[in-house]
Amino acid sequence: MNAASIRLNSVSKSFGPDVHAVQDVSLTIEPGSLVTLLGPSGSGKTTILRSIAGFEDISSGEILIDGESIAATPTHRRQLGMVAQDYALFPHMTVRDNLAFGIRSSRRARRERSRLSSGQVAERVDRMLALVGLDGFQARRPQQLSGGQKQRVALARALVTDPRVLLLDEPFAALDKHLREQLQIEVRRIQQEVGITTVFVTHDQGEALSMSDHVAVLNRGRLEQYATPLEIYDEPATRFVAEFVGRINLLDGVVASGNAGRTDVVLADGSRIALEGGRETPAGERVQLSVRPERIRLTHASERHDDGLNTIMGVVKTVVYLGDRIDVTMNTIVGEIAANVPRDRSGDTEFADGDHVRIQFAYGAGTVLPDLLP
Ligand code: ATP
Repeated sequence: MNAASIRLNSVSKSFGPDVHAVQDVSLTIEPGSLVTLLGPSGSGKTTILRSIAGFEDISSGEILIDGESIAATPTHRRQLGMVAQDYALFPHMTVRDNLAFGIRSSRRARRERSRLSSGQVAERVDRMLALVGLDGFQARRPQQLSGGQKQRVALARALVTDPRVLLLDEPFAALDKHLREQLQIEVRRIQQEVGITTVFVTHDQGEALSMSDHVAVLNRGRLEQYATPLEIYDEPATRFVAEFVGRINLLDGVVASGNAGRTDVVLADGSRIALEGGRETPAGERVQLSVRPERIRLTHASERHDDGLNTIMGVVKTVVYLGDRIDVTMNTIVGEIAANVPRDRSGDTEFADGDHVRIQFAYGAGTVLPDLLP
């Protein structure tokens, strides 16, 4: 497999004078890595993917594959494999013929065709079907396959031509949750086994976090953050990323002191919260503390406690049991706060509506975001 690098340099794409689908997006995709374009509907994900594929001409900027601009290279010569949501298998052909057609119609294969015997084509088809776990399905037609199996065939067909780049546009959107999770793991395994550079479009943040080496979060055509899944989750760069990727508590405050390594913030109720890391933030600046619900520690107000660090008092509003964890929302003087805490069988962490609780989070449990509210 010849994995390629992809570089987007200030890529913009407009449709007519008013629709700015992609605005000044720059990012580098390392050879052999899987990058997800994540964002809500209309954020420009598909437009970027289609631009890499050559189905759209970008308005400005450039796209490079292995350091070379692809502006003048038509789609069929870009050596791409693509899988879309709707499978796009030929219904009248068997699985074997769907894949063989892919081999025969690719330009490189056309060049090689004189050298590729039908035995070699069959061998390649069989190898790809084994890779996606569909050995033995060669003679089936698409209507004899489940949705998940169709998507595996589509993936095998995309890979059978030995492309430089794999483009996946919401490939699991039509599948149920269980199947989707199964295929996420499988596609990631196959991608790593083959070592192919892959661009994956999804609006599902769980999917993006679980599958990717890097995630590009898009909002209204702009790149909000490009980072590893862990960084996206633990250190969201913007309010949009914080809210779009998982649940989050955002608490208004003012910086009391901010040195590199530690920021002290005073909340509306006067409580002082210290967080480690983050950007250099001048005293007096309005900010928002962002804390994930599962990074919160919850105890009853009546319990003994060691110190008052990063503590807010609250009253339980709702409790939802989720197997071994509990979702608790609380009213506090700084607004509603959501916590997701482990359930302790001993009963020590049983909470009920109206309970007075101490809400605490560790020094490293959150980040400080610039206040972007008007
Ligand atoms: P979704 O998750 O709904 O597919 P997306 O993030 O992939 O959304 P795009 O399909 O890239 O978003 O669309 C970005 C913006 O560009 C949207 O406002 C969309 O309406 C617009 N757009 C896309 N294609 C065209 C087109 N051919 N003509 C005009 N506007 C378009």
